This record gives sequence, C-alpha cells and structure tokens, in this order.
Amino acid sequence: MKYISTRNAAHSVSGCEAILTGISPDGGLFVPESFPQVSSDDIERMTDMSYAERSAYIMGLYLDEFSQEELLSIAEKAYARFEDEDACPLTKIEEGLYLLELWHGPTFAFKDVALTVLPQLISHSREKKGEALTTLVLVATSGDTGKAALEGFKDVKGTEIMVFYPDEGVSDMQKLQMITTGGENTYVAGIRGNFDDAQTAVKQIFTDPDVAAKLREKGYVMSSANSINWGRLLPQIAYYFSAYADLLGSGEIDKGDEVNFCVPTGNFGNILAGYYASRMGLPVRKLVCASNINNVLTDFFTTGEYDISRVFHKTISPSMDILISSNLERLIFEITGRDDAKLRELMAALKADGKYAVDPLLIKKEFSIFEAGYADEEETMETIYNTFDEYGYLVDPHTSVAVSVYNKYYATSGDFTPCVVLSTASPYKFAADVYEAVGESRVDDPFKAVKRLHLLTGMEVPEGIANLEAAEIRFRDVLQREEIKEKVLEKVTEK
Ligand SMILES: *Cc1c(COP(=O)(O)O)cnc(C)c1O
Repeated sequence: MKYISTRNAAHSVSGCEAILTGISPDGGLFVPESFPQVSSDDIERMTDMSYAERSAYIMGLYLDEFSQEELLSIAEKAYARFEDEDACPLTKIEEGLYLLELWHGPTFAFKDVALTVLPQLISHSREKKGEALTTLVLVATSGDTGKAALEGFKDVKGTEIMVFYPDEGVSDMQKLQMITTGGENTYVAGIRGNFDDAQTAVKQIFTDPDVAAKLREKGYVMSSANSINWGRLLPQIAYYFSAYADLLGSGEIDKGDEVNFCVPTGNFGNILAGYYASRMGLPVRKLVCASNINNVLTDFFTTGEYDISRVFHKTISPSMDILISSNLERLIFEITGRDDAKLRELMAALKADGKYAVDPLLIKKEFSIFEAGYADEEETMETIYNTFDEYGYLVDPHTSVAVSVYNKYYATSGDFTPCVVLSTASPYKFAADVYEAVGESRVDDPFKAVKRLHLLTGMEVPEGIANLEAAEIRFRDVLQREEIKEKVLEKVTEK
C-alpha cells in the first residue's frame, strides 16, 4: 500500500515513510492510495478475536512492510497497558444505545488507543529504513494528545518529544498530567494562545526547510504525534470494527446490519477513522459529528462553507476547542474526488481568508453518511446530569456533547438504527465540571472534586489521577507562539 499527499497526488511514499515524516513536505496529509475491503465474513471472524488481534488485523491491511506477527506483538504490548483485558469495551446503557469506552489506557483519554501504538510503529519504521538520525516528535495539544504522546514516547530509544499546549486552554488535571511527566527525552511548554495557534505554529515548523536543515545538522529529523500522522489514525480505525464485532458477537445486531456512530469531534481525527472504516466495508448508516459551541464543523456540513472567522470559545470540553480541524483536509480530498490541485487552492484560501467552500449538494448527496450537530455548555452540563440520573452512568464533558447531539438527532430524525457513542475520556480528568454537573456545588480544587465525585458516584478513581497530587512539577516554561521555533532549535543544540 502506498500513501499519497492530499496536496500532491504524484508524491507517493510507503507506510513507514508516511509514519516517519508525519506530514508531506508540501503541507498535505498522507492518505492511503485505496481502501482495503473487509467483508461481512471477515467481520464475523473478528468476534472471536481479542482487541489486540482485531487491531493487528486492521493495521495489517494497510502496512505491508510489517509482518502480521510484528503487528500483533505491537498491539499486544500497547493494549497490555490498558486497565481491562478488553481495551475498548462497549457498554449498553439503553436499548439501541451503546458507549464505546476508549479511555482505559495509561492517560485516561481515547488518544491512548493510538499513542500506545504509534511510538512502536515509529521505532519499527526507523529500523526498517535504517534511520540513523534521532526522531524529534513535535506535538501541539488541546489537552489529551500531549500526555498520551509523552507517556508513549517517554524514554523510547531514538526519539525525543516536545509538547506545546495552550497555557490557559486545558483542564487543571490535563496540565498537571503533562508538566509532571518523567523521562529523559521529554519537554513540555505552555504557549500564550489557543490550540489553533499551537497547531499552526507546529505545522509551519514541519514544513520549514530552514528548520529541517538545522535539525539535520544536529542529527535530528522531525515527525508528528498529532492525528495528521497516518500512524495515529490507523489504530483508531480498528475500534470501529471492534465495536461492531462486539455488537454482533453479543447478538445485539445481525450480520450486515447497519449501525450509527456519534463522535465528539475536534481535530476530526476520530470521526475520520470511522469514515475510513465505512469505506472499507463496515456497515455504517450515519456518522454523527458532534461539536461543542466551537461549531465550525456543524456549519460546514450544513452549508458547505468552512469559515474560521468567528469567536473562539473556551469550553468545559477543551479537547474539542478547535476551529482549524486538520483532518477535515483528508475528507475534503475525498469530497473533491481526490483532486490535489483543488486541495491546494482550498487550503491556500483557508490560510489567506480563513475560509473555503465546497458544493453543499455534493455533501448532502454523496456524503449523506455525515450528520452534524452541536451542544452548548448548558446542554453539556445537563446531559452529564441526565445520563447519570437515568442510567447511573457518568460521562465526561466531551462524551456528554456527543450524547446530547445524539439525543437531538434521535428525536428529530426518526432514525432508530442502533447507535454507538464514542466515549473519549474518564470523567475524573474533568472532575470539577462533572461534579458540578451532577448537581453539587462547585469545587475548584481538582483533587477535592475527584474525591467528592468518588464519594458521590462510587466510580473508581484511576491511580494515575490520584497520584498526580503529590507529583513533582518538572516543566514551567510558557512561551509566545513565535518562540516555539527557537525553542525547538535551542533544545537540539543543548545536547
Ligand atoms: C481529542 C479529543 C476529542 C476530539 O477528537 P478529534 O480526533 O480531535 O476529533 C474528543 N474528546 C476527547 C476527550 C479528546 O481528547
């Protein structure tokens, strides 16, 4: 399988190369040349597999430079770090409504599903390619990617990792998780600005030939752990198949039945993996794109216009506080019939004018698999309360956005297809807001909120959260976004 750039379809690379470079030098994202097909018999066979086996099977369809044993050993090692034997369990909360829990990994958010795998894919790719330079992984994070990437790359030979997060745009717990990270090869800094500022700055560094040359001189080559990297998206495709296999295996659905997925969305990486799964043959009826009040994607799916000139809101679902959703570029590539010239034009317009448009009829007709909606802050709080009240099930604010959007879709569409809502974080990562939502007064201290939430709900507190209270803070830098480039160059010179 070869991978082509969304901005230059003539530029094709192998899977290892796509994973090692992260982003194409032309600024485009790598996409597979075609989508391998999975039949309903293949899916039925997945019902008997462990999560690691399902993951290795799906990854094997795309990574022909890796042997099946190699991928299985990677997946087994990754998912042994999850709390449960079943890494991504499916919980039924009501007839036809299921939550796919993707937060049982080391940092309690869905990013772990891919970021326990990616560092291994990079290490193996380095070996296969005989890469002698150190891989410098640069990460922009809206909160959860940062810690998951740090845990994934911490002390991994041949790699160093630098993470940039919006200093005032993440939850207390998310920030503490990052700035207390150990490891000899890690660096973390806050930046003044929002996630879009961090992501734009980091993407510019990736495609800056001056930086690349200076790094090379010092023995480094850059890669990305953001979902622009194919090695981040690929492991995410597997859990869509896994959820379906679980529904089939438990008799909730019959072979070939369609299922809906509702996905809390920010950078469009999670839901894009679901779209790719559908292109591979997974019977998906609707993919519901759920946003918070930063609802640029809701507007896009309704009008065809993507316009980021709007107020940026800080919300209680910070990992979705994003206006420039990088991975939408990969969907636009499909919407335009894989027209790389058109993509160059649209992405240049986005950079220059902050907007672009595609034919809304085309989205409605050819891409009718997508539905979109958003939940405001009040609805998000209320849905946390209602979900706990009705089902005794505690959701985090991101998952709550998706449950709320799904409820609205269900009430207005008359579509009774079984629906899997992707549950993306442990409620304890956002304990202060969740505690307030379930009807109690506000407690700002995150650890007090954790304790009270535990007393109230009896839900087990992950050790990695409880331990943070006593953890030593290792990183205190807060940078202007213009300083990120300097910091990167400074770090590699220090060594
Ligand atoms: C990252 C994240 C999201 C959004 O996922 P994207 O792939 O960026 O669309 C949603 N919820 C949580 C908890 C996250 O960490």
